[in-house]
Amino acid sequence: KRRTVIAGNWKMYKTVSEAVDYAGKFLEEVRNVTELDIVLCAPFTALSSLKNELEESIVHLGAQNMAWADQGAYTGEISAQMLLDVACTYVILGHSERRELFGETDEEIAKKVQKALSSGLKPMLCVGENLNVRAEGKAAERVSTQVSRALTGLSIEDLRRVIVAYEPIWAIGTGKTASSKDAQEMCASIRATLSGLMGSAAEQVPILYGGSVKAENIAELLAEPDIDGALVGGASLDPLSFARLVHNAT
Ligand code: 13P
Repeated sequence: KRRTVIAGNWKMYKTVSEAVDYAGKFLEEVRNVTELDIVLCAPFTALSSLKNELEESIVHLGAQNMAWADQGAYTGEISAQMLLDVACTYVILGHSERRELFGETDEEIAKKVQKALSSGLKPMLCVGENLNVRAEGKAAERVSTQVSRALTGLSIEDLRRVIVAYEPIWAIGTGKTASSKDAQEMCASIRATLSGLMGSAAEQVPILYGGSVKAENIAELLAEPDIDGALVGGASLDPLSFARLVHNAT
């Protein structure tokens, strides 16, 4: 069985002092949890302080975006090396908010995934359809295209370090979770696409579900065979609630 991954995506929330306060409270609650991987994906400005707070803890650190370039005249961008420097091991790439609000394309996301992998970061590639695409019955096709465009051309060794997060846009921040049956169907379809790229090694890739996950519904989602964890937005913002979610995932 694949190891469960529970990742919090704070999005554009928390100052440095709020992040540090959170880390103390959260660690207190989850320090005995060793059977799954916990990741906090914080805003760039909080990462350096969180590095100090989470050092030698079981909680891993992640960023929410990254540049495809190594360094140079790219005003406003953050490189893979900068993330490694503040102890990040994960980076969310291609989140629907980046795609929809900031115009990120599949091509850019593919470049970012390659850069993350060649730098030693684990990319959490986000994919997901909007409500129109779902209504047209094209959700699986859309998501498969997103996965293929982001990952084609990578070696199997590289693909083994990728995490995929299925986040239907209509379920993000809406309180409308996909039913565990629908989420399972999409995660299985993603795994089939991965099999096309990497053969049986696709069985090892963690596929997370994201979209209104909370302490109350995590266990039901994780009971599905192809759902290996969750990418959690709103319900990761309070340290005690998120700790409860983590415990319900064990
Ligand atoms: P919510 O959990 O707030 O729906 O957000 C999901 C998400 O976008 C995580 O990346």
